[in-house]
Amino acid sequence: MLPPDSHVHSQWSWDALAGSMEATCRRALELGLPSVAFTEHADLTPWTLRPGEEVPQEWRPLLADGVLTPPALDLDGYRDCLESCRQRHPDLRILSGIELSEPHWHTSRAGALLGVGGFERVLASVHSAPAIDGSGFTEVSTRYDDQPPADVVRAYLAETVRLIEQFDAFEVLAHIDYPVRYWPADAKPYDPFDFEEEYRHVLRCLAAADKVLEVNTRVPLHPQVLAWWREEGGQAITFASDAHDPGALARGFADAVQMAEATGFRPGRDPHAFWGRG
Ligand SMILES: [Zn+2]
Ligand SMILES: [Zn+2]
Repeated sequence: MLPPDSHVHSQWSWDALAGSMEATCRRALELGLPSVAFTEHADLTPWTLRPGEEVPQEWRPLLADGVLTPPALDLDGYRDCLESCRQRHPDLRILSGIELSEPHWHTSRAGALLGVGGFERVLASVHSAPAIDGSGFTEVSTRYDDQPPADVVRAYLAETVRLIEQFDAFEVLAHIDYPVRYWPADAKPYDPFDFEEEYRHVLRCLAAADKVLEVNTRVPLHPQVLAWWREEGGQAITFASDAHDPGALARGFADAVQMAEATGFRPGRDPHAFWGRG
């Protein structure tokens, strides 16, 4: 049996233009997943677009003076939809959730959202970086235009440490290797060993804070990072497709499961639980 998909987006995430909670639930049942967590975006940081940067038509209303402000999650709509999916699909465990972007920069907003949300799965992630010229913030992917690729990854991992040190109200760290998704094709290939010290620092802090590491399959997590997680004392992992459409649900899970088992992680007795150390 595949593990739960603990990080999925539906139409309630503003950037999931092809998202569908209902179709994702049906797909989960087809695949035989025990459970799925709809961890919709709470993107709390506005992004200053680069000169000439284009966004999809649907996002134009979010733009003002070259700054894109992601909309707040429609919590009532999300909850109603989740509840009706639970009623239609009693054989699937459907968890509510949230993916908080840079919650350590927005502690009061993040705390307020958690206070009213009652989420069963709380992910924390970094998607943003301070703009290189000091004017606002940018999406991490655009940083490769301004900096050598290795500097982008190092800055990302340093920000991730600050997140863990400054914000505690989360359970799972999402996509520790997020910038690798955008690693430039014409650069020297990405090699996690170039960042061993930085990865280990993040993982040590995460283990000390008693959090869970996510094995994100959008770009498959490098097995070495998972091995370092184990060495640094990491206790638990989740599997995460980060799907933004139903077809991407549980993508790459068979390989990720093999990799996790080879690294010494095992499922618990409860098929819905995090995986632990074997
Ligand atoms: Zn994310
Ligand atoms: Zn996500």
